[in-house]
Amino acid sequence: MSPDIYSMQKNGEVLPQVRVFDSHAHYYDKKFDEIPGGADLLLSRLKECVSGIINVGTDCSNSLECVAQAQKYEFMYAAVGIHPTDAQNEKMSCPCDEAEKIYSLIASQEQRRKNKIVAIGEIGFDYYWEPVDKRLQYEYFSIQMQLAEKTGLPVIIHDRDAHGDVFEMILKYPGVRGVIHSCSLSAEMAKDLARRGWFISFSGTLTFKNASRVREACRAVPTEKLLVETDAPYLAPHPYRGKINNSSLMRYTVSALAEIHGIEPDEAARITEANARLLFGIE
Ligand SMILES: [Zn+2]
Repeated sequence: MSPDIYSMQKNGEVLPQVRVFDSHAHYYDKKFDEIPGGADLLLSRLKECVSGIINVGTDCSNSLECVAQAQKYEFMYAAVGIHPTDAQNEKMSCPCDEAEKIYSLIASQEQRRKNKIVAIGEIGFDYYWEPVDKRLQYEYFSIQMQLAEKTGLPVIIHDRDAHGDVFEMILKYPGVRGVIHSCSLSAEMAKDLARRGWFISFSGTLTFKNASRVREACRAVPTEKLLVETDAPYLAPHPYRGKINNSSLMRYTVSALAEIHGIEPDEAARITEANARLLFGIE
């Protein structure tokens, strides 16, 4: 394991060790195999620094992996769903069949409890990765919003270069609640969604040097609507940008968020944990 994965230094100062709730990660991702011991060794060491992790699927098969991993770790929960980019994979059948597979995992409360499934996600629009099939992405997104309506589960929304269309979809399903993950919204939009009851989650991008826009959005959201996440193995915070991310690096994101809101990092960790537990219905 690379020694700096657990390093506590930032600009030569020791960062306070805070336990955080990571509202969005992908611990089944093959990228973790590049670390000696893989995701398993990593997760066995994480219980000191996390109060919870939501392990998020992007298609039917890795959603099942999320569920299986969540069974192994007390602090881990699963989200199941089809990501807009995965929706365009040629191996996919039609939106109805794929959504039916997701529904079969969450149909009853008993199943959800047993499988530790607390959300539908990640779902949404991605207009960044070419080619973009907007019609197909729309079908997958709306059918999964309907599943959220039916089950009462919150959704985890992926929005890349698609703010306007995501906003419109949210307005179409006023009964659905959830979180916008790894926020790249404008301050105005983030504030508007928070006012409508949505949670806004910030990833390592909050710490990037060129991300003043993301910090502005974070400042615009009241603390009771804020979540933090890694999106591990991606989006590692500064000074680990570009490396394999993991939940122990979240303290950098939490420290940045605390600074923006003028509170202490442990308070920011406590607030975002309480928010995550409220949204995902975890006691
Ligand atoms: Zn993700």
